[in-house]
Amino acid sequence: MNVLVMNCGSSSLKYQLIDSDTEAVLAKGLCERITIDGVLKHTPAGKETVVIESPMPDHKAAVKLVIEQLTDPVNGVITSLSEIDAVGHRVVHGGEKFASSFLITDEVIAAIEACNELAPLHNPANLIGIHACQNLMPDVPMVAVFDTAFHQTMPAKAYMYGLPYAYYEKYKMRKYGFHGTSHSFVAHRTAEIMGRDIKDTKIIVCHLGNGASICAVDGGQSVDTTMGLTPLEGLVMGTRSGSVDPAILAYVANKENKSIDQVINIMNKESGMLGISGVSSDFRDLEKGMQEGNERCKLALEIFSYKVACYIGAYVAAMNGVDAIAFTAGIGENNVFVRRLVMEQLGYLGISIDEEGNSRRGEETLISTADSKVLVYTVPTNEELAIARETVALV
Ligand code: AMP
Repeated sequence: MNVLVMNCGSSSLKYQLIDSDTEAVLAKGLCERITIDGVLKHTPAGKETVVIESPMPDHKAAVKLVIEQLTDPVNGVITSLSEIDAVGHRVVHGGEKFASSFLITDEVIAAIEACNELAPLHNPANLIGIHACQNLMPDVPMVAVFDTAFHQTMPAKAYMYGLPYAYYEKYKMRKYGFHGTSHSFVAHRTAEIMGRDIKDTKIIVCHLGNGASICAVDGGQSVDTTMGLTPLEGLVMGTRSGSVDPAILAYVANKENKSIDQVINIMNKESGMLGISGVSSDFRDLEKGMQEGNERCKLALEIFSYKVACYIGAYVAAMNGVDAIAFTAGIGENNVFVRRLVMEQLGYLGISIDEEGNSRRGEETLISTADSKVLVYTVPTNEELAIARETVALV
């Protein structure tokens, strides 16, 4: 079965065509600058990336171009549209309505629309992608896979905020959590590597990318996670502040003569590693800066690693134990320095680092020593494959 996996942003569209029988990626690509001008980077498996500049006035035009490339005599990997058997869409926010993936129907679309308020930057773009695909492939079954769904198993004591209860009743104001597809994929893979039934494991997944979150997975279920109502809560990230004293909002707004929305924008886009270092949000730049003696780059890396270690400690408490910790995403899979700093802070758990394992990047590796009391792994995430699997399961 060929599954087209779609991840639509407001001006971008990431896709992969996956053969679900072999789980091979047949082609992948990215449309950028949709509604501005339009650039498509398309990579058929085993071939060079082709870059196509072509007007993309809307997402429908972008999807049309993607299909043209997938079926192109030279760059294509299928001969016609009829070889796409299903489409899996990443949807960011499913609110409390979606605790799992769903086959897309008019009712499901209406329910996703009802969650728009909770993710105003993401959900409308995801819906545009769904409509564009339905328009061009009216007979192909489609599935919505939600970033929030995996975390719907959190108990109320983990997801409720210490705010008037009426806000939860009136506005559904609570912790939702994100990166659920990745946390679930990595937790399951970690249990497999351990040779254990996930139902009998306590695993902490550290999804450390430009956006970063940690999840406590007890018996295969999310019981707590660091992101909240929005992805701004929790860890300090590439450009996001993560959790701060909420009183800071009004304080900065007064001092800098800005609106609360402007301050939130600064906390989303100009804070975190970028804000602290004044250099970059990219961890490669920060490491280079640190090696050249830039103290603020070093401080940014130390703050990040410290926060990761502190949340891991919190989640050991949340689960009353831990069997394994898994690092994933760009930083988790590749940043040897950050992993070492985090693990050094976890000596009290009986964790010891396998330096050779930890020196490896981007591959499934045990990075703790054989006698470490808690197993620590690097486990590459694969959200697209997870979406394809969910899609096949429902179709
Ligand atoms: P993501 O959002 O998962 O794509 O992760 C982006 C982050 O991963 C950036 O801060 C990158 O610097 C970091 N990253 C990606 N590849 C590497 C690498 N080879 N070494 C160190 N950091 C990396």
